[in-house]
Amino acid sequence: APEGGFPHLQSLNDAQFGAVTCDNPAVIILAGPGSGKTRVITSRVADLVLRRDVRPENIVVVTFTNKAANEMRERIQKAIGPYMTGRLQMGTFHALCAKLLRKHGYRIELKSNFTIADRQDSEAYMKRIVKAVDPKCTKPTNYLWDISKFKARNQGPADVLNAVSPGAAPWEVRKAQLLADVFTRYQDELKAHNILDFDDLLVYGHQLFMAMPELSDGMHEVLVDEFQDTNAIQYDLTTMMCAKHQHLTIVGDPDQSIYAWRAADVTNLHKVQKLFPAASMIHLEENYRSTQAILQAAHRVISQDKKRIAKQLYTNNPMGHAVFAKGHLNSQREAEFVCNQIRGLVATGQGQIINGDFAVLVRSGYLTRALEEAFVRAKIPHRIIGGMRFYERAEIKDVLAYLRLADNPHDRPSFERVINVPARGIGDTSVGHIIDAANALQISCYDVAKKLANKETVPGIKRISRVKLAEFVAVIEKLREMAAQPDTNVADIIAYLVSATKYEAYLKAKDAKEATTRWENVQELLNTAAQHSASLDDKEEEKNEDDDAMDEDEDEDDDRRDKPTVDTNVPLRSFLNSVSLVSDIDQETDQSKVTISTLHAAKGLEWPVVFVVGADASQLPHSLSTGPAQIEEERRLLYVGMTRAERLLYVTWPERRTRYGGDEATIRSPFLACIDGATFPKTKTLLLTTTSPTVDKSLLEFFTKMRQHQVEHAPNPTGSQPGAAGTPAAPTAKRPLDLDTDLPDLVPVLKKPRPPLA
Ligand code: ATP
Ligand code: MG
Repeated sequence: APEGGFPHLQSLNDAQFGAVTCDNPAVIILAGPGSGKTRVITSRVADLVLRRDVRPENIVVVTFTNKAANEMRERIQKAIGPYMTGRLQMGTFHALCAKLLRKHGYRIELKSNFTIADRQDSEAYMKRIVKAVDPKCTKPTNYLWDISKFKARNQGPADVLNAVSPGAAPWEVRKAQLLADVFTRYQDELKAHNILDFDDLLVYGHQLFMAMPELSDGMHEVLVDEFQDTNAIQYDLTTMMCAKHQHLTIVGDPDQSIYAWRAADVTNLHKVQKLFPAASMIHLEENYRSTQAILQAAHRVISQDKKRIAKQLYTNNPMGHAVFAKGHLNSQREAEFVCNQIRGLVATGQGQIINGDFAVLVRSGYLTRALEEAFVRAKIPHRIIGGMRFYERAEIKDVLAYLRLADNPHDRPSFERVINVPARGIGDTSVGHIIDAANALQISCYDVAKKLANKETVPGIKRISRVKLAEFVAVIEKLREMAAQPDTNVADIIAYLVSATKYEAYLKAKDAKEATTRWENVQELLNTAAQHSASLDDKEEEKNEDDDAMDEDEDEDDDRRDKPTVDTNVPLRSFLNSVSLVSDIDQETDQSKVTISTLHAAKGLEWPVVFVVGADASQLPHSLSTGPAQIEEERRLLYVGMTRAERLLYVTWPERRTRYGGDEATIRSPFLACIDGATFPKTKTLLLTTTSPTVDKSLLEFFTKMRQHQVEHAPNPTGSQPGAAGTPAAPTAKRPLDLDTDLPDLVPVLKKPRPPLA
């Protein structure tokens, strides 16, 4: 058997094995949740490197989040080792484009030191533009949404006008003109300040591929996870990446398409099938993640969607406990229930059950706050995804703005943010004058400040504290100098910055109570920077070896020679880049904390115990959903949430909810009608209905095995699995944490026939 000696091929089922080893250049894998799609991608990457001698730098792996990329990296590392893994081109579409643009952006007249705007930066720009163009508008962010949708289809302001139908009412035409105008100004603004927003990374990435189709020469194998949630421009990027070699592997599940509201298009799956008619179509039908009870409940929810194409999905996992579905008096009670369940399970779990085993999922980001209060009161360590993110905290943004300004003096939002932080007596009026002067002279605000600091006269600016400005300029200049050192450590730059600006004292003066936490956050950023620099050092060593290898390879197009600019500020820029790319659906895992997350951000992830809370009729479907298509997307969202659970699933809702300041009665989500408790097998009763549950034997055994598994499979830097090489996969190889043997108190496992060899 080919798996002999190849650990990455072991413990795959037949269909997975077929998908991993398939020689067909194009492979399309359509399969349900937990069936191992992501695992197939990682194993296929390993297979390409180990068995088919594809060079890792020629493999492109696209993931849905940065976190997914990190997880995949860890998994691949076990099979092919860290050195080979480091050479893969792996990340989100955004991260991959950002990297290409930094390197080759000059080919489309983009400076390599562009700043990536975060949501708040974009909003700040937009507010100013809308104020000028549409002063009556109360929601400037709506413009951002509309623009984003056009960019997702690689369309610009002209397309806004073209999209107006010939018979449109005058107000519709007016609206489109307004949008086109705002769109144009917004792009001009960004361009003038050398800033790209998130969508621009893809738009310019697309332009880059148009200008340099040869980029795809180095992309021998392209693999994309979660393809059902790609948008039009990501589809195009995919086809451009594999244009030369036509080797493409995509995996997806139409039942889990939940980003149509962000212009994702599930029909991209069918388009790929049409584009690659000879592709191998592979279906994975065995779910390894969840118990039968969880899978059945989820299946009932999704099969209410009458238009969907039915798929096979079964599991050899045990029946497990019935899904718990129940209403609570109100949201507070619901949150308390969740806390009690977690506390009870952890307390009786004999050390085998930890906070990291739980996730609490909600439909809307703002609901995480109510939950957070309950968790704080219950003193349960937790981590919120989709709430205020680390990089959105004021102190973090301050520090980053200094760094950004040092890297890109044209970055106006950063200039405005820190010119008077800590306070230097340079008020809004002065800043206004500086901006005007910058516009008039066609130079950056920072350059205006520099002129003033050097006692030059600048038209329109009279009274300004040159001494204070000189202090500010001196700090930035020093940062620039430090950043220009090729072996600089970004942590040192930050350390200098906070000391030179007396930032800690500033925090204390601002709010003594908050200062401690805020200062801790700054330290945390410093740690992140130190780690980043360390990883960069490793990479640098690898790259040197890599370059030698490249020289021998004639068909490698090395365009570094004709590159006009010398790449300075490398460590700083690379750090800022990694920080900017952390998106709202990214999250770090922390085994000591319960995860509180939106349903959207939970995609692709799994936890032993999942609570889907707030599942009332105003949230699922969300009250703003209109039309059947949106309602179906909401149903899929619930499906995605339910299928994150491995062993225990709770779906709960409040019977009253505070909305718009009032207290309203709500009802259970209509999607849940099909999973009434009565329809479920009454397996061994876990004391779920009481306030504090106790763990029963079967569940405890699951957790014990899982912990054991984690210890045995802890990340292993050498990349080899002890004792694994050479041992052929047992025919019934199963995940070590499965419980379907020797557990007399569980309902007998329903075995379905195995699918035939793909
Ligand atoms: P989703 O649609 O939710 O993204 P997926 O299809 O990508 O799910 P994976 O995350 O790859 O599924 O796998 C789900 C779980 O099942 C993981 O914990 C994975 O390690 C495990 N798994 C997958 N295949 C096997 C297998 N053949 N044997 C044992 N465990 C497996
Ligand atoms: Mg997956």
